[in-house]
Amino acid sequence: MRRAIIGFHRDEENHWVADLECGHGQHVRHDPPWMVREWVTTEEGRRSRLGSELDCKRCEEEA
Ligand SMILES: [Zn+2]
Repeated sequence: MRRAIIGFHRDEENHWVADLECGHGQHVRHDPPWMVREWVTTEEGRRSRLGSELDCKRCEEEA
């Protein structure tokens, strides 16, 4: 299920989580070399991703 990103927050382990329009959250880790999401480490990068879509696994499970 494609859901737009409406914000970001950090979890208790300091990993970035995207807040999706459906109310769910999804981790967007920058954990090189496995997961490279350099953009998530900067305010500017995160702002540029607002409104872009991620697959929400929780919505898919509920559907
Ligand atoms: Zn969802």
